Amino acid sequence: MHVIKTVKAMQALSRTFRSSGRTIGFVPTMGSLHEGHMSLLRRSTEENDVTIVSIFINPTQFGPGEDFNRYPKDHKGDMEKISTLPVEAVFLPDVSEMYPKGFSTFIYVGGIGNILCGASRPDHFNGVATIVTKLFNSVAPDRAYFGQKDLQQAVVIKKLVQELNFDTEIVLCPIVRESDGLAMSSRNSYLSDEERKSAIILNKALQYGKALIMSGKEGDISSVKGKIAAFLASDPLVRIDYIELVHPESLEQVDTINGTVAICLAVNIGKTRLIDNTIINNG
Ligand code: AMP
Repeated sequence: MHVIKTVKAMQALSRTFRSSGRTIGFVPTMGSLHEGHMSLLRRSTEENDVTIVSIFINPTQFGPGEDFNRYPKDHKGDMEKISTLPVEAVFLPDVSEMYPKGFSTFIYVGGIGNILCGASRPDHFNGVATIVTKLFNSVAPDRAYFGQKDLQQAVVIKKLVQELNFDTEIVLCPIVRESDGLAMSSRNSYLSDEERKSAIILNKALQYGKALIMSGKEGDISSVKGKIAAFLASDPLVRIDYIELVHPESLEQVDTINGTVAICLAVNIGKTRLIDNTIINNG
């Protein structure tokens, strides 16, 4: 397995793969790998001749006061997990490699970056789109794998790829959950025992919302949102950031619960911000 630190070396290696006719699957991550990441890696190894994973905690997608400086790191554990799969290369650039002194060129994703998580994390999705562009230009993947856990991120990246003509297919992979339903996330490690117990409420609220919609008895969106809000508010540790019912491909608010709907949630529990979503096909 190659461990690559520079963009030039990554480009050279990926050129060798391509020139021998091999397809490249790519999984961008911020490390501290868990089963959610591993499911993306596994899928890539199944669908491509070569798989490349990147580990890079991207400073431009963190706002002031967010957790960039304390984001969990587990280099040894990550390398051990990656080595259990047929992964050809790990791209591990330093911040100075990706953002050398004087760096000033950013991708602007437009209004889609200001809704849902973007409303409380201004510039987050511009930072995500910028680093994904830089990673795609380093790896030149045929396919790149993203988790539905970060649905808005996947939609933003699909739009980026389409509008800026990247020759990369974006593959969306299902959310991997702990046995009690909590969506796996590197940030779950911030939770105290008590907070961890409360965190189960996100998935429960999604299941409750789904049952309301599928029951056929709920006529309007605001009633469903209100009931989900009341459900979440029953736990004193939970502070709601947003509850939205959107179309899973456009992220536009739906005005009827018939058809395909994504329920998207963000809450704060203590100092930890957690997100989750579920996609419902309701006829
Ligand atoms: P991160 O390291 O948090 O930037 O995540 C890297 C990739 O893994 C992103 O595409 C995430 O959506 C995906 N991912 C994170 N958690 C999960 C999960 N629980 N299930 C599926 N994919 C996930």
